[in-house]
Amino acid sequence: MPAEGTNIQKELNPLANAERQFEEAAARLNLPAGLKEVIKKPRRTTIVSLPVMMDDGTIRIFTGYRVQHSIVRGPAKGGIRYHPDVTREEVEALAAWMTWKCAVVNIPFGGGKGGVVCDPAKLSKAELERLTRRYAADLSDVFGPESDVPAPDVNTNEQVMAWIVDTYSMHERRTEYAVVTGKPLEVGGSAGRREATGRGVLFCAREACAHLKLPLKGARIAVQGFGNVGSVSADLMTRDGGLLVAVADVTGAIHNPAGIDLQGLLRYAADHRGVKGFPGAKTLTTPIVEYDCDILVPAALENVITRENADRVKARIVAEGANGPTTPDADQILEKKGVFVIPDILCNSGGVTVSYFEWVQNRMGFYWPENEVNQRLEHTMVEAFKDVLIKSMEHRVNMRVAAFMVAIERVVKVIMLRGLYA
Ligand code: NAD
Repeated sequence: MPAEGTNIQKELNPLANAERQFEEAAARLNLPAGLKEVIKKPRRTTIVSLPVMMDDGTIRIFTGYRVQHSIVRGPAKGGIRYHPDVTREEVEALAAWMTWKCAVVNIPFGGGKGGVVCDPAKLSKAELERLTRRYAADLSDVFGPESDVPAPDVNTNEQVMAWIVDTYSMHERRTEYAVVTGKPLEVGGSAGRREATGRGVLFCAREACAHLKLPLKGARIAVQGFGNVGSVSADLMTRDGGLLVAVADVTGAIHNPAGIDLQGLLRYAADHRGVKGFPGAKTLTTPIVEYDCDILVPAALENVITRENADRVKARIVAEGANGPTTPDADQILEKKGVFVIPDILCNSGGVTVSYFEWVQNRMGFYWPENEVNQRLEHTMVEAFKDVLIKSMEHRVNMRVAAFMVAIERVVKVIMLRGLYA
């Protein structure tokens, strides 16, 4: 492979990127000797081989992972991803980001992540259920409300969480809702959880606009990804006066500089399984991350803004709904251009924040109305945004470095107070 290809592969390696982001922030903090290594490495990685009976009577073995990056501030917290490209490295990177994300919003969780190497599109519902139950059963001594609390991630959903609750509860011989979050409302879920990540993106975008003196009313917004995070962010930002000018999903991309009718697009995308062909807009043939807009919301995949295209980003604000959409190389280019990036560990932390509320409600057995969930979410996110912005101004660093600095300091503080066991 040519040298350039190798460099690109390196740029797109999530574990290398998570470590580089950590190192950049850690280097600016006066950390006690040795502590950096303690908090950098995952605490525990569990790998399981999962035999599953397929519908045709054959047996297939799937590989599953669960990584607990940190349990210093509380139980490990993080989603479970079902995808053919899941690797141990990817799960370790995502688990580390969860540690920093939970610390940025100051909720009492550590970081974890899980994954199963599979293509759910090629599995029947019954096969998916058997795979999920076997994964949950094999990890039933790892999971637990006080130790490790999973949630949905790519290709897992409320139904998968309900199966995990049931499997775990059968092993425990009692119903235990607090073992996972992101559950259906009827099975211990929280009001407002489905919209929480997009709502958090809105709160961060509002704060960023106020800081930059850029009115959200009339701001041109481009959104990549029209799933949970992208569609809710677009909906709430347009309700706040933003003008949605471009949307992309896996089916294609559309744009309308005069504004896209969001409610119409929501209905169209539900009926047509995507945004492609929406009559109220034209097809967009250029990459959406390069679209002329004020606020770009990447809410689909990792590594969409790289050193190859960062220079062509025209947005004033990049609000990272997705995890890891901007590579560290691209970050440097965006910073030089004066683009204000709201980093993923802050911008998309609304989801895990309401997961925390769900866990609290499960443990109390008392459920809050949606407006209470949303108010608490707003308070948490606005406080976190302020903490990061102040750190960024004090140290003259970008928001990502500042967010990592805030998070690392909070984790280290707890280690210093608790001390090292034995
Ligand atoms: P989702 O599956 O609901 O939606 C993903 C969207 O991305 C879909 O619209 C899909 O069509 C689109 N997409 C896929 N490939 C694309 C491509 N090549 N180009 C353009 N669009 C493409 O997923 P989600 O829950 O909205 O998650 C999106 C991102 O946000 C992921 O990175 C996820 O890790 C992150 N995230 C989600 C949550 C949450 O609560 N759902 C919380 C934090 C972070």
